[in-house]
Amino acid sequence: MSNNQAWDDEYEVVVVGSGAAALAGAYSSARRGLKTLLVEKTNLLGGASAYSGASCWLPGTQVQQRADVEDSSESAKAYLKAVMGDHEVERREAFVDTAPELVEFFESDPAIEFYWTAFPDYFNAHESKPLGRSMMPVDLPREEIGELADLVRPLVEYDRYNQPHPEGPLTAGQALIGRLLLALTNTGNGTIQLETELVDLVTEDGRVTGAIVKDAEGIRRIHATEGVILGAGGFEANQDLRTVNGTPGNSGWTMAPAGANIGTAIRAGQKAGGAVEQLHQAWWCPGAAQPKGNAAFALGFRGGVWLDANGKRFANECLPYDQMGRVLAAAPERIPSWFIFDSRFGGQMPGIMRPFNTSPQEHLDAGTWVKADTLEELAAATGLPADALQASIERFNGFTVTGVDEDFHRGENPYDQFFADPEYGPGPTLIPVDQAPFYAARMVLSDLGTKGGLRTDVDARVLREDGTAIEGLYAVGNTSASFSGGFYPGPGTPLGSGMVFAYRAAQTLKA
Ligand code: FAD
Repeated sequence: MSNNQAWDDEYEVVVVGSGAAALAGAYSSARRGLKTLLVEKTNLLGGASAYSGASCWLPGTQVQQRADVEDSSESAKAYLKAVMGDHEVERREAFVDTAPELVEFFESDPAIEFYWTAFPDYFNAHESKPLGRSMMPVDLPREEIGELADLVRPLVEYDRYNQPHPEGPLTAGQALIGRLLLALTNTGNGTIQLETELVDLVTEDGRVTGAIVKDAEGIRRIHATEGVILGAGGFEANQDLRTVNGTPGNSGWTMAPAGANIGTAIRAGQKAGGAVEQLHQAWWCPGAAQPKGNAAFALGFRGGVWLDANGKRFANECLPYDQMGRVLAAAPERIPSWFIFDSRFGGQMPGIMRPFNTSPQEHLDAGTWVKADTLEELAAATGLPADALQASIERFNGFTVTGVDEDFHRGENPYDQFFADPEYGPGPTLIPVDQAPFYAARMVLSDLGTKGGLRTDVDARVLREDGTAIEGLYAVGNTSASFSGGFYPGPGTPLGSGMVFAYRAAQTLKA
């Protein structure tokens, strides 16, 4: 939309959305002294970032140094090259080069502090780190953030079920959002407006000069004299867009907050002339089907086997979640499929599920799980061919004796063993399925957000089809197409890269 009307308000920077990337952009701008407005369409701050485990993949920083973990930017670049080849070299190296500077900048603010946390890189490739390159925000005591805590979206296990968030410090994604929010507020240059949705952008002579937002009072035109940073997530909750773009998965199975990220900012950027790419991509993960029809992010399997509709294993069940998601996405007949486990785990699935507050009995009542005394009866209850199911379990149980998964090499990567009990042998991830009663859990394809969006340069400037930058317009987080394309290199790539590019964007404003 071009400008032929008066402005209702004026800021130097307008930031759209309030996930980690948007807040990092707002904070970095405000700390530079720029008058910054952040608009968030829901009544809570943080989006999927607040739901997250808050692992941030930021290689070669002072946080690794403090923990005596050997890492460097050069090593991270070599790892990314081994994993991604020639894909997006310029942006990925800008990301790696800026990670140490971002962490130093953040931690120079008393509101922000990280600690190193062990979490293996997702590919067993040249220069991968078996203990990873990730960090997490230190838990944030409520007394430090005060009433602002009430503005932060609760963790997914509470928010999704409309349950009050427990007392105690803000943890994980909540701590990350809380710390960035506190830091932004302390600058004195940040204004936050909740329940205020971007609906369009204003362009004048090819430059983006403002945002059109909608709130309870109607439509307002906000002048952004230096720029607009779009950090409003992807389009994971918009099934029509997923269908049009051929993005595997389902808006009902995504882990992002229901209905929040529907691609409005990407669409506004396109209208302003921005190119889009990678729209079929997402940060995928296995989803354990839930009684209400949605899904829970499932990772860290230690036991059990995953069978397709033919009753056959089709992958290493311990694969990093995005890689397993891609295996599912590549063969839609694997959605849904069944995860088979036995009673040695006390009737619980042998893995981690978020949210984890649905009991086995609720699953059994809803039919998302079935239970049987024999494998034959389990086959009847799931509809899987009995002979194939029995043969698959027998073959797998044989591998648990030798300690070698001859079919899918489960347990051979450091990541596979990260969630396993090292005491268990001969293969810590190879635990037999032989103790009745047996269980089957229905599995689908979930995601942590889509990762295709507006095409951007090393400073998060939105690019046109011809490669020229649209002045005044930036896109970060899942509103932009990720440099990582079809790869998820390490735990915390979405958050780490989102914050780095938002920081880089803020440095170019009013340069
Ligand atoms: P979001 O954080 O979703 O923020 C987008 C915000 O924009 C939302 O608040 C939304 O309401 C708002 N918005 C949308 N449209 C508009 C509009 N038109 N106007 C105004 N506001 C708008 N990633 C990691 O890196 N490390 C992890 O440990 C990790 N763990 C995860 C665990 C779980 C359970 C989940 C669900 C995800 C996890 N992820 C993790 C993935 C990561 O959280 C997301 O991919 C990432 O947070 C997306 O960030 P974002 O800023 O793009 O979007």
